[in-house]
Amino acid sequence: MTAIVGLRYLLTSGLFAWITGKVRPGLYKGLDRQIRREIGWSLISAAIYGLPAGVTAWGWREHGWTLIYTDPAAHPLWWMPVSLLLCLFLHDTWFYWTHRWMHWPRPFRMAHAVHHASRPPTAWAAMSFHPVEAVTGAVVIPAIVFIVPVHAGILGLLLTIMTVMGITNHMGWELFPRWLVHSRVGHWLITASHHHRHHESYQCNYGLYFRFWDHLCGTDRGLSSP
Ligand SMILES: [Zn+2]
Ligand SMILES: [Zn+2]
Repeated sequence: MTAIVGLRYLLTSGLFAWITGKVRPGLYKGLDRQIRREIGWSLISAAIYGLPAGVTAWGWREHGWTLIYTDPAAHPLWWMPVSLLLCLFLHDTWFYWTHRWMHWPRPFRMAHAVHHASRPPTAWAAMSFHPVEAVTGAVVIPAIVFIVPVHAGILGLLLTIMTVMGITNHMGWELFPRWLVHSRVGHWLITASHHHRHHESYQCNYGLYFRFWDHLCGTDRGLSSP
């Protein structure tokens, strides 16, 4: 599982870094040393992410652990989109509060400073975390599948959204169209314009997928223009 997570990181971050080179030539100029550091931390994170994921996948196959199901008729069809939204919300909630905690001085110095050493972040920074932060990220999806019944296909979709948003939020330019980012829907969604501001100002915009917690807790400072 560690090899899969590492390979997934290299292929997807590599793809978006390549696209960045095409649509924003020179954006990562002079960042070679930073990118090498981002890849190093990300591969260590991949090893950490692989462990709970591997144990959970093994327990599911061998012992029927987790609430992952493969028969689409096992739950009503409407449950599939609802379970996806619920998983995203739970992941987002866990991320928001652990992220706020990691901005306290001690955990920041000890762990989260690694992620913020990317100035500005690149497509390679998606998993650039200190091992302590990687552990907080690695346990969340394996824990969710023990409490939320989720179809294997929906789980795949969730992991795809997690991977793509993790990369695109860091790649230094906005992938999504302006009309969406600046719309009423965009008011609740996190894309690069939102997370880039977190990397500029630190004490705001802590969320992962949704701006719900940032709006509720008064930590949303709007968008940057990467
Ligand atoms: Zn970040
Ligand atoms: Zn942060």
